[in-house]
Amino acid sequence: MNLHNPTRLNSSARVAEKKDFSALIQTADDFELRSDWMFEEIKELIELPLMDLLWKAQLVHRASNPGYKVQLASLLSVKTGGCSEDCAYCPQSVHSNTEVEITPQLDIQLVLNQAKAAKQAGADRFCMGWAWREIKDGIAFESMLEMVRGVVALGMEACVTAGMLTDHQAARLASAGLTAYNHNLDTSPEHYEKIISTRTYQQRLETLQRVRSAGITLCCGGIIGMGESIRDRASLLQVLANMNPHPESVPINALVAVEGTPLENLSSIDPLEMVRMVATARILMPKSRIRLSAGRQQLGREAQILCLQAGADSIFYGDTLLTTSNPQVESDRQLLSDAGVTANWIVNKK
Ligand code: SF4
Repeated sequence: MNLHNPTRLNSSARVAEKKDFSALIQTADDFELRSDWMFEEIKELIELPLMDLLWKAQLVHRASNPGYKVQLASLLSVKTGGCSEDCAYCPQSVHSNTEVEITPQLDIQLVLNQAKAAKQAGADRFCMGWAWREIKDGIAFESMLEMVRGVVALGMEACVTAGMLTDHQAARLASAGLTAYNHNLDTSPEHYEKIISTRTYQQRLETLQRVRSAGITLCCGGIIGMGESIRDRASLLQVLANMNPHPESVPINALVAVEGTPLENLSSIDPLEMVRMVATARILMPKSRIRLSAGRQQLGREAQILCLQAGADSIFYGDTLLTTSNPQVESDRQLLSDAGVTANWIVNKK
């Protein structure tokens, strides 16, 4: 691999590279989207000296996202706890022994009020989570469709995460106007069985395919800090980057080790590992939204700014995620303002 060439360049950019690479790479079209990444290429990228990795990620990021626009996405747990899956990181699993209270599905109007409040606070995407193994038909699903329609009517992007689904359910969500369906791969195929035993990697890939076939965009990423190796991180990124097309949205999470889950004793990752993961994801998937997700509180301000520089162009915004905490809105506003990026909240304020 040519280490001066993070993604393949078109011919004019290749000529330009020899003269002054950084001055001449100016548009996203200078990068060819690839879905044929080799494992060794990705591993080589993620292990580059940090300054080299950041420089390459910056070239891609500045070309793909002039002005450093950051999308603010708010997340609401619509149905919490009592999930039959055994995801080892998740406090909502019935296999964990956590203090998460099982809460029935929230009312439609309450959810839409939250979406409205999120919009007023500057979010332009509203993500709704159901702690389910899979979507079941019935009143709850009809309510989900109503919520999706309501969020879209507010002029926001609507995203749902609710486990596996059928082709018919995916088609109905698409008709309701759903922008994106979140279904994470969580980790590499190799590390997967240490994390989840109640559904296979293949089932996850099939769910993603159903979503894609229905014409809904994909939100799909993973979690680092679950005892995986660098090879596992590269392998996860390879699966994501070799989807064609790439997932439109790629959440990168750092484990929040919650007491009572099987991973409760794992220590926090070095924040620079998150920076590396974001930077590599940006290089591999130049046009996807790379979303800084769970674990931001553990990162600290400077590491978050490095992530924004390395390619993150979305954050979860609002002081809770599904069940774990997230930075306060005010501190996020300060962070974005200090970083000098462009977000809805900042644009609306001007
Ligand atoms: S991550 Fe989702 S599927 Fe897994 S246990 Fe938690 S709620 Fe259930």
